[in-house]
Amino acid sequence: MALFSSVISGPAARVIEGMIRDITQQVIRDHNLPTRQDVEAIRRSLDDAERRIAELELALEEQASSTPAPIDSAINPPAATEAPPAKRSRGRKSLRHLACQVEGCTEPHRSKGFCSAHYQQWRRGNLRGYVLDEGIIVDGPRRFQVNRRLSGKPCTVSGRVNARVIRVDGVTVEATALEPAA
Ligand SMILES: [Zn+2]
Repeated sequence: MALFSSVISGPAARVIEGMIRDITQQVIRDHNLPTRQDVEAIRRSLDDAERRIAELELALEEQASSTPAPIDSAINPPAATEAPPAKRSRGRKSLRHLACQVEGCTEPHRSKGFCSAHYQQWRRGNLRGYVLDEGIIVDGPRRFQVNRRLSGKPCTVSGRVNARVIRVDGVTVEATALEPAA
């Protein structure tokens, strides 16, 4: 609006400014559009809610890893003995940094250690290199079941076709071969 005042004299500029303001407000009312303040407020409360959910999830993960799990240790002895301290330190680290766990991704952490885009990709089962929801690992046409608690963690599949070695977070884990996806 400063542009007008430099071209047009004071009173005329004020009239034009007033008209533009009225028209803008009329358009916003007519179209029932949210104002910039509305959008900012919504964005702030969304960010807040997402941050709280991420913190709650991490707190729950930490709680789950510190409670004794007889089934877990029966299925998976190496992970049960080695994983808990690592899990706890990772939990604290991600709480501080809140960055996506996918290498090279600098987006903020949202859920399961992923940013929202990578979390969506992971939820749809399209993120390779991570244990999918419900502890499923996809290896070409083959699928493996590992402990559900490992879902969202980085994994690798190596070894010969009929003797696959599956590592989650660098630790070799027990895995059951599933029927190929239909
Ligand atoms: Zn990401």
